[in-house]
Amino acid sequence: MAETGDPYSVAARRHDEREAQRLHAQNEATKAPMVRCPQCRQDEVHFDDQPWCPGCGTVWESGSELADEYAEEFLGLDWYTSIKDGGEEPTSDCSNCGEQAVVKIQPDDATFWTMKCMSCESLFNDRCTRCGAPIQHREEGDLIICTTCWDYVVSRP
Ligand SMILES: [Zn+2]
Ligand SMILES: [Zn+2]
Ligand SMILES: [Zn+2]
Repeated sequence: MAETGDPYSVAARRHDEREAQRLHAQNEATKAPMVRCPQCRQDEVHFDDQPWCPGCGTVWESGSELADEYAEEFLGLDWYTSIKDGGEEPTSDCSNCGEQAVVKIQPDDATFWTMKCMSCESLFNDRCTRCGAPIQHREEGDLIICTTCWDYVVSRP
């Protein structure tokens, strides 16, 4: 078979390339962001019974403990400053598990998903425009409001 000449195989190859690109984009969109260890900054935190780092051996008591530490190390956010100066809160409540363990993923490691619950591993990428709770916003035109606010809005007379 000719290397590049035959028009059929060229077209087929182009098609395959486009398909590969499309699949790649799709994988990127659904890929979970990496959670870098806030202690050693090298390895990725593993989520078993408790979050732990295989690189330095750190084990966190809870997802919220890891979330607080992550926010402080990578985002420079802590509760003291947030409460004292009214800045951005380091972590948010998770609508799925109720833990205050949702933290913003540092920009280098974020994917389509920009926030993660360090307790139940739920992923989020936007905030409710009404109350600020982390929500999953997938498509243009999605309602950017959390289910709690939605229920409240629709239940009003
Ligand atoms: Zn580590
Ligand atoms: Zn959660
Ligand atoms: Zn809300």
